[in-house]
Amino acid sequence: MIVAKFGGTSVADAAAIRRLIEIIRSRLSAQPVVVVSALATVTDSLLALAPLVESGNGPAVDAAILALVGRHAETARGLAGTEAAMERIRRDAEALCRELTRMLGRRLSPAGLDALAGRGELWSSQLIAAAMSGAGLDAAWVDIRPIMITDDRFTRASPQVEVMESRARSTLVPLAASGKIAVTQGFVGSTADGRPTTLGRGGSDYTAALLGAALEVERVEIWTDVNGLMTADPRIVPSARTLAAASYEEAAELATFGAKVLHPATAQPLVKAGIPIVVLNSTRPDEAGTIIEPSAELERMGNSPIRSISFKRGITVINVRAPRMLGAFGFLRTMFEVFERHEVVVDVLASSEVSVSLTVEDRSHLDAVVSELSELGEVRVEHGRAIVAVVGVGLKHTPGVAARLFKAVQPDNVEVISQGASAINMTFVVREEDGPGVVQRLHREFLGT
Ligand code: ADP
Ligand code: ASP
Ligand code: MG
Repeated sequence: MIVAKFGGTSVADAAAIRRLIEIIRSRLSAQPVVVVSALATVTDSLLALAPLVESGNGPAVDAAILALVGRHAETARGLAGTEAAMERIRRDAEALCRELTRMLGRRLSPAGLDALAGRGELWSSQLIAAAMSGAGLDAAWVDIRPIMITDDRFTRASPQVEVMESRARSTLVPLAASGKIAVTQGFVGSTADGRPTTLGRGGSDYTAALLGAALEVERVEIWTDVNGLMTADPRIVPSARTLAAASYEEAAELATFGAKVLHPATAQPLVKAGIPIVVLNSTRPDEAGTIIEPSAELERMGNSPIRSISFKRGITVINVRAPRMLGAFGFLRTMFEVFERHEVVVDVLASSEVSVSLTVEDRSHLDAVVSELSELGEVRVEHGRAIVAVVGVGLKHTPGVAARLFKAVQPDNVEVISQGASAINMTFVVREEDGPGVVQRLHREFLGT
């Protein structure tokens, strides 16, 4: 078996869905399980309803839902056999309208946001399963929610792996054995008592990997809108090249520091069984893509010590200066307990003799964190920062690489520098506006023009 996951742009409209169908048709003998995202931008549009609900703007909510239904109807018109699926989507959209009308003037809870955001995948998967059947494939729509059982940390739920794996096997293996192609949703799950959850933004890749591990597939295919994992985001570095191969560790570091092409947790379920991930372009299915596997050998990366550069905006730096305390026993632990209590994830950490700098992305509990940190020392907060991360197993082995890195980033721009414990990444925190320039200079220095 294989898992084939199609992201938002790969299911954006009827033409994209027709390409998906032909890709699946070319892989029937591998017994594919198809995981789909919502049609491109639909998750954003659904989440944009929340502030309209909160401000009590009923007519705007109705209009936005009508527009989403229109978007799906337009897609369905280009695809044979989708009438009944479209009718189901229409009815569910009406139900959503009624639910949100009851909530007008109130703030949606995280659970409410998940019930809303997950609609996009439910609708896209119904449409795509129907279109596949209409095109002569033996497709079966599968609701992933009773399979993907998660905890109740809404908007960023974690799967209960054992339950999920056994349910995935008992549902999906017999379907594949009988020659059916399961079509299911990425991103969504539910708590054990049936309340809808999501795995966090971009989570469909993670769904695909979790199912791939459960089913012990040959490979997990991630179909997207670029040729694979590249030497940098092609939107920032137009001359970026596609990597033939990368290791799990490299892929995870790149994703954590901004390479949106993969969700940061994608590799994690696959490490144990050594199942490869292949990142492929759904508009150019004959390109080789990038293979992410246990030991992408060094020689496959040419002569650069680094494999790729990633870039992440919207970062806040917190600097804690505590000259007398820093060396004191237990100081760092006390500091990290503050972050832990508020469930705020720290991405990058650097310390000097008198201060600690760290970065966070999530600003929702920042005020509380800062007020508690102020009891430990003098706290400075800087918004509008970005992380630039260079990643490559060659960083560990190549002499002189640090000097070249510093020359390329031009240290005046850099506020925090940190090397990950794995020694395969080096991160720089810069002002957001300086970020693209730093990425371009590093790319020129290490990865060609
Ligand atoms: P999907 O909808 O298929 O999940 P995403 O938009 O989540 O696709 O991810 C694909 C995008 O990731 C690309 O269009 C590209 O702009 C961006 N990206 C960022 N860094 C990289 C990288 N290193 N390699 C490839 N793509 C990258
Ligand atoms: N549709 C979801 C999102 O936009 C999940 C995904 O596409 O991976 O975040
Ligand atoms: Mg994605």
